[in-house]
Amino acid sequence: MTKIFAANWKLHKTPKESREFFADFTQKQQLLAHSLILFFPPATSLEATSESLMHTQIEFGAQNCCFEAQGAFTGETSALVVKNLGGKWILLGHSERRKIFAETDEMIARKLQFVQTLEMAPMLCVGETLEQRESGQTSAVIRSQLQKGLAMATVDKFLAVAYEPVWAIGTGKVATVDQVGETHAQVRSELTRLGFSVETPILYGGSVKADNAKELIQVPEVNGFLVGGASLEVSSFLEICRA
Ligand code: PEP
Repeated sequence: MTKIFAANWKLHKTPKESREFFADFTQKQQLLAHSLILFFPPATSLEATSESLMHTQIEFGAQNCCFEAQGAFTGETSALVVKNLGGKWILLGHSERRKIFAETDEMIARKLQFVQTLEMAPMLCVGETLEQRESGQTSAVIRSQLQKGLAMATVDKFLAVAYEPVWAIGTGKVATVDQVGETHAQVRSELTRLGFSVETPILYGGSVKADNAKELIQVPEVNGFLVGGASLEVSSFLEICRA
């Protein structure tokens, strides 16, 4: 399966900074033709991203969307507009959306269904908190987030999953190879049980850096990475993509 290297820029980079990043990145990434690279810039940089990546193989999308294309939804991002800009992807259910913006599994399921109806690619994030891991609830949390988040999904349409232990996001704490292997195997078996393709990519996210990427990319069922902090600099993200 083609490895996917996805950058989540969160609320970083102006349109000008995005253009500068891509001018440099697209010059240097030619040797990475065998993998899929994609960016989730903030909504305000989507247009700059679209223009910068127009003649490249690099894909992009939004970090969130509304469950409708348009209407009385102040402050939301329209997946249809993202599609019109040439974006293929929508990140859904990131732990920051769940925690800070109180997104529920039910809201995520609705958004995911809508993204699929637009023939775009949703990337569903799942992951346990430290408290849940320490109290032995990791499997139950992952199963529940997958079941509920995918409750309205169409099994024969594309989607990707990102396993991101909440305690590893932006903390510098990386899950061990064993923890990643065990949880990715669980995600794969749950996806299969729910009827999704064995080709559904499962990415790992949580403090991925150049120095741990080589080891983590070898773990069975790790089909790529979702990278936050280390995707903000051209050199550190390129090093991860080269893993
Ligand atoms: C993320 O935001 O999805 C993420 C994994 O962040 P970081 O790489 O900074 O831990």
